[in-house]
Amino acid sequence: MEFRAPLEDILFTLSALGADRLDHYDADLTREIGEHFGRFATDVLAPINAIGDAQGCRLENGRVRMPQGFKEAFDQLAADGWQGLTAPEDFGGQGQSHIMLGVTSEIFSGANHALQMVTGLVPGAIRTLLTFGTEDQKSAYIPKLIDGTMLATMCLTEPNAGSDLARIRTRAVPSGGAWKITGEKIFISGGDQDLTDDIFHLVLARTSDDGLKGLSLFIVTGRVSVTRIEEKMGLHASPTCQIVFDETNAELIGSEGQGLIAMFTMMNHARIDVALQGVAHAARAFDLANAYAHDRVQGQINGSDARLIDHDDVRRMVDDIDALALMSRGIAHLAMIELERGDKPALIEFLTSMAKVFGSEAGIRAAETGMQVLGGYGYLTEYGLDQTYRDARITAIYEGANGIHTRTLATRGIKSGGAEAFGQLLQDLGASQDSQERWAQAVEYVQRGSATHMAPYFYQVAAQVLVSVLSHHYEAQADTHPDPDRIRRVARHVCVHADAEATKGIFIMNALCA
Ligand SMILES: Cc1cc2nc3c(=O)[nH]c(=O)nc-3n(C[C@H](O)[C@H](O)[C@H](O)COP(=O)(O)OP(=O)(O)OC[C@H]3O[C@@H](n4cnc5c(N)ncnc54)[C@H](O)[C@@H]3O)c2cc1C
Repeated sequence: MEFRAPLEDILFTLSALGADRLDHYDADLTREIGEHFGRFATDVLAPINAIGDAQGCRLENGRVRMPQGFKEAFDQLAADGWQGLTAPEDFGGQGQSHIMLGVTSEIFSGANHALQMVTGLVPGAIRTLLTFGTEDQKSAYIPKLIDGTMLATMCLTEPNAGSDLARIRTRAVPSGGAWKITGEKIFISGGDQDLTDDIFHLVLARTSDDGLKGLSLFIVTGRVSVTRIEEKMGLHASPTCQIVFDETNAELIGSEGQGLIAMFTMMNHARIDVALQGVAHAARAFDLANAYAHDRVQGQINGSDARLIDHDDVRRMVDDIDALALMSRGIAHLAMIELERGDKPALIEFLTSMAKVFGSEAGIRAAETGMQVLGGYGYLTEYGLDQTYRDARITAIYEGANGIHTRTLATRGIKSGGAEAFGQLLQDLGASQDSQERWAQAVEYVQRGSATHMAPYFYQVAAQVLVSVLSHHYEAQADTHPDPDRIRRVARHVCVHADAEATKGIFIMNALCA
């Protein structure tokens, strides 16, 4: 089934959650750009998605070869200016907002997650350069990232340093006014590819033995040595590279010892992107399951032939999938709206982690439920739901495994004021008295008991009270969507579950406190 960008749903959520009140949000322009990118996604990005999955990437003589059609698609992407969508106009970009990027990123991931992985780190790299780069670094690299001469990577992971970056061993030493890096990085997305002439690697390396404070951020350009690419469950068209630096020339970006802070600019950006990858998979699963359930005739109801969707259990599953897409998008859009406002850093961090966990779980669960709706055909490769599931699965692991994000919400979220700001957000969104009380209760329990032990349930309460309030917003504004009946039905369907799940989280936290 042809890929279709879920633009009406995207625009509905943005306006239901208040993007219209942002200074730089222009709903008409967002529609126009979304439509334009949606056509590109349907015509160019989506048709090579299954090809990329089947062919995968190859390592030939130390160089990565991308699957058929990927180079041509990237050339068109770059030529049409999409790589510079959010870059400042002074450097040749289009100066658009995070919101606009969120719209195109979601559509991109729904059409071709693997290619989005390889091309999608560019806006974060540009932002890192703008925040921490020297004038020379900005002018040397930003135009090349915009025009498609360069793609960007993010090099953190090492064999002994996954979630725990304090174990990074790759070392940088000063050398004649510059730096030389030696060490090995693994799992680097796009560590090499044959889409661009050059690659802009942002590498976290050790400049002293002082744990996380001994890490600094470096720019390495040019081809680096790729020793292997990983065989994976999904994302076959995204090369996951092991790369080796051997006294490789590097430039420091930002201050020595501030590497993690600088890398966080890139990572926070990537986390919203991962949330949207999950949303995109959920939306695709909905499209496939909904269309199939309306088409296939099976069984009878009141003596007449029935379609799958006429059976209550199938209707429930399709609505579950729809709700996962609509609600995960809502949480991601709230994070994007706060990021655009920029005046509440603790809330941005809190919502970003929530969006990452909720979005990734939504994509996986939606794909899995979608398979059930399609029955045997869901398990086959014919409809592509297997690829959706396989590609979506990684989102719960990379960019901070979900368990680490939930722990952060319950620990740092309390200390930084993020949880408090979230409580205020609930109030501002008009959450019911019950929801606000559930949230206050969760905050009290997590402070009283073991925060790391309670983290998953604390997250559960946070996510479900938010889903509950979002469902009320969607229902109230359903008439602004072209299919108001669908929005109302799904909002009502999800609301009951959300309140029950939040109550369950409170119940478990209470038991853990005792
Ligand atoms: C397809 C793919 C693409 C990737 N792309 C990149 C990339 O471009 N750049 C890059 O640098 N890395 C990349 N990674 C690496 C990815 O970010 C790591 O896999 C991830 O950070 C987890 O590290 P790990 O695999 O070593 O797992 P581990 O750190 O060993 O963790 C294993 C499990 O234990 C749990 N865990 C670990 N520590 C804690 C803790 N302190 N508290 C609670 N739970 C914990 C985690 O939840 C996780 O589920 C990629 C990985 C894959 C598979």
